[in-house]
Amino acid sequence: MRENRRRLARALGIDPERATMVHQVHGAGVRDAAAPLRPGRFLGGLSGWPEGDALVTRTAGVALAVMGADCLPVLMWRRDAPAVAAAHAGWRGLVDGVLEAALAALGDPARTAAWVGPGIGPCCYPVDAALRSRFAARFSPATVRGDAVDLAGAAVGALVAAGVPAAHVRTVAACTSCEPARFYSYRRDGAATGRQAGLVWIDPAILRG
Ligand SMILES: [Zn+2]
Repeated sequence: MRENRRRLARALGIDPERATMVHQVHGAGVRDAAAPLRPGRFLGGLSGWPEGDALVTRTAGVALAVMGADCLPVLMWRRDAPAVAAAHAGWRGLVDGVLEAALAALGDPARTAAWVGPGIGPCCYPVDAALRSRFAARFSPATVRGDAVDLAGAAVGALVAAGVPAAHVRTVAACTSCEPARFYSYRRDGAATGRQAGLVWIDPAILRG
């Protein structure tokens, strides 16, 4: 895992000493990462990070990382100002409002864009009737597909309902469970599986330009 993170940082051209994450708990808590929450510890593992499911920063070079293996990584950025956020969004976080909380921390949804990364698709995500009812009520009936729910559809709906222009929301046509060659999946592989990482940061070079 440590080596994977080192490779990831090298591939993205980010400083792993300034990458930060949270101890994800399927909630809606947002952590302000004006500086890395544990400087230099991104290569050091999962333990010891403060609890939360979203991160926001206005500091160039601080890379925000969220992890998921079926849950969605959702990356958000202000189109008019240097401010970015990342959220880990599974069904519970979506229902509890993790995306709305991250957007509030960014301050202006109408000037925000978002990217909804790969998660488990409705093809592979049957849930019980109670949760299907909650999705229909909280998001829209279209997020219920047979006996399953559509996490990405719910995420897009939540972002747009909170004020992000639909034209500025991108999604990935993928299902983590259907594509073992590309993705880790908790439902498919169990708790010992790896995680996808979603990262967003403000490139210091852009601010200098
Ligand atoms: Zn699938």
